Amino acid sequence: MRNEALLKKLTQAQGIAGYEKEVRDLILEEVKPYADEILIDAIGSLIVKKNGTGGPNSKKIMFAAHMDEIGFMVKKIEPDGMLRVCNIGWNWAASAYNGRIRFRNGVNGVVGCRGTIEDAHNDVGKLYIDIGARSKEDAENYVKVGSVCGYYGEYLELQNGLICSKTFDDRVGCFQLIEALRENDGTYPNDIYYVFTVQEEVGCRGSKPTAERIRPDIGIAVDITPAHDYPCDLEGSNTVGKGIGIKYADPSVICDEEVVSAMEACCKAEDIPFQPEVIDKGGCDASSMNLSGFGVRAGGISVVTRYPHCQSSVVSKDDVEAGIRLCTAISKYTFSF
Ligand SMILES: [Zn+2]
Repeated sequence: MRNEALLKKLTQAQGIAGYEKEVRDLILEEVKPYADEILIDAIGSLIVKKNGTGGPNSKKIMFAAHMDEIGFMVKKIEPDGMLRVCNIGWNWAASAYNGRIRFRNGVNGVVGCRGTIEDAHNDVGKLYIDIGARSKEDAENYVKVGSVCGYYGEYLELQNGLICSKTFDDRVGCFQLIEALRENDGTYPNDIYYVFTVQEEVGCRGSKPTAERIRPDIGIAVDITPAHDYPCDLEGSNTVGKGIGIKYADPSVICDEEVVSAMEACCKAEDIPFQPEVIDKGGCDASSMNLSGFGVRAGGISVVTRYPHCQSSVVSKDDVEAGIRLCTAISKYTFSF
């Protein structure tokens, strides 16, 4: 996989939904030299346009990779200095339990639970965060109600080309779009909008106004998808290392048949390993693009990920590289509709 140092840097940046600035600033620096137009909209999504050459059947393609990550917001500080929190996005309480978290100002903490984690039944209201404070007054020197924090998880190499880190969801998508943009030499027929969206984890909010602004012909989410090839509570065919996922459907969207066929044709023509991607839980930015304007053809390019939504998600470098190649191939593609 190319440019691994950038992927690492992106995963280690913090961008809780609604607070994506650190990630956006990092991406902005990377994309500036390659963009024809750049715009940051009012809710913070970063829109990077690369013009196409036009011609018959040329399209406006909007890629969406979300910059935000899940986390927690402080809702109450207890007299003993422990912090009570609420969800920003979908957290699995059992995987947050005893994990490390970090606030935006660099304050660190550990996630604990009142009672057993089994009795918490995934209720984040039962969790608390221990920053080492001695009292409420002491804690208020470091955090306040409304402060947000996210997972801490270093970037590690596993065996067989697998890597482990916090926030592959969806820095891996941001990374793929940056690399695909770098490759775009302006000779493609299609206008390409590389969009780095906000607030996907709280209901695909950022991609909606962006799609309304761009009015694309095709909207493609570039995101992760849960794996099914390890002992877990999910069932399906998604397999780490088997190629880039071409989304058929998730509960939020049914992908356009012709877009799916075009992606498969691209992979076959360029020897890009791919797999069909189907999940029955979750969603992605393709849904809001799909239902924007008078309707938009939707697609999804998905990196299959083990242990999503925690500090230790796992992906395959080969799948990530395949995803960059598919983004490039579909950007150049001449569609028949
Ligand atoms: Zn995601």
